[in-house]
Amino acid sequence: MIDGKTIRQDFPILDQIVNDEPLVYLDNAATTQKPQAVLTALNDYYHHDNANVHRGVHTLAERATAAYEAAREKVRNFVNAKETAEILFTRGTTTSLNWVAQSFGEAFIEAGDEIVISYMEHHANIIPWQQLAQRKNAKLVYLDITPEGHLDMNDAKAKIGAKTKIVSIAQVSNVLGGVNPIAELTALAHAANAVMVVDGAQAVPHMPVDVQALDCDFYAFSGHKMCGPTGIGVLYGKRQWLEQMEPVEFGGEMIDFVNLYDSTWKELPWKFEAGTPNIAGAIGLGAAIDYLSALGMDNIHQYEQDLVNYVLPKLTAIEGLTVYGPQNPAEHTGVVAFNLDGIHPHDVATALDMEGVAVRAGHHCAQPLLQHLQVPATARASFYFYNTKEDADRLVAAILATKEFFQHGTI
Ligand code: PMP
Repeated sequence: MIDGKTIRQDFPILDQIVNDEPLVYLDNAATTQKPQAVLTALNDYYHHDNANVHRGVHTLAERATAAYEAAREKVRNFVNAKETAEILFTRGTTTSLNWVAQSFGEAFIEAGDEIVISYMEHHANIIPWQQLAQRKNAKLVYLDITPEGHLDMNDAKAKIGAKTKIVSIAQVSNVLGGVNPIAELTALAHAANAVMVVDGAQAVPHMPVDVQALDCDFYAFSGHKMCGPTGIGVLYGKRQWLEQMEPVEFGGEMIDFVNLYDSTWKELPWKFEAGTPNIAGAIGLGAAIDYLSALGMDNIHQYEQDLVNYVLPKLTAIEGLTVYGPQNPAEHTGVVAFNLDGIHPHDVATALDMEGVAVRAGHHCAQPLLQHLQVPATARASFYFYNTKEDADRLVAAILATKEFFQHGTI
């Protein structure tokens, strides 16, 4: 069982006053806060072990290498990949998806092939595929969204077919908050001899993820959205594909032998990791995984679900407030995008900030989705396991005060 109030004590940043109010941090879909354990791991690394990895024979270099590779094993175990060779460290989800589009795309996509994504994708899961489609004269195909805010699986069945080479879908939308049936999509992709790529940026931090159970070919996520540092992320890829793919970047660290006019690469996973990697970032991510694992991903998921069950009905009950995505709390994760009639979401976010409540406003890097929903922008509150029902109450109270202020000019 998770007790959000106790857990908050692990996150020093949460204990502060913003605009004369205790901070309520509800921008976790953008980035999460870091527990003391992660801050300590980063500090310890730089205080005691800092050295470059894989090259040195001295003790610090060996310690840094051991810690870096231990972090890779923690990631492997966390998402249940078969082997660490399938875990590549990247800068984040964006880099991970770009690597697949560039490297897998270069090797396997030809003119006329189809790449299937959906209207609910983040720009990180759209633009790399647009670029690939333009480069290869391939076709980008969008899956529809049902009026209830789910991925339209009938459309998926109709559109994933003989020409499909890649299906790339978010497990959890960063705007609509629903969970997409990845295993089912993978089965559709594989039946069409296509690969399944998953944008797991909003899933891995919040629920147990097992890449072997999903059977996806690639899975991308970011450390900073799961209590880890910025600048570190992961690309999981099945060995059978990674073996056949060329590195995206070239230089030190990733080579086996360099001749004057050609070179050979190290084995997996190192052939993809050119240059000095984000060693501290990986170690910090490893510490975040230890922290999350000690809480238990099932417990985290359940706790957040209880919060959603609590807050979503309170939000949908507010007159003039529209929540996007599934309206049923059981089908909604802790990402809640909303608008208040007649008030621009930036004004809503600014007014909430005055109450100490941090939410995001804008297009959330999902412009095609907002065009699809026919709204220019939304506000978005996104919860994590250190948020509490009191935070939810503060959000609701601040929204009501904002409404009152814009209607009657008093707060
Ligand atoms: N996909 C989704 C669904 C996201 O929410 C985000 C982050 N907002 C990304 C991709 C990109 O992640 P990053 O900026 O860490 O690369």
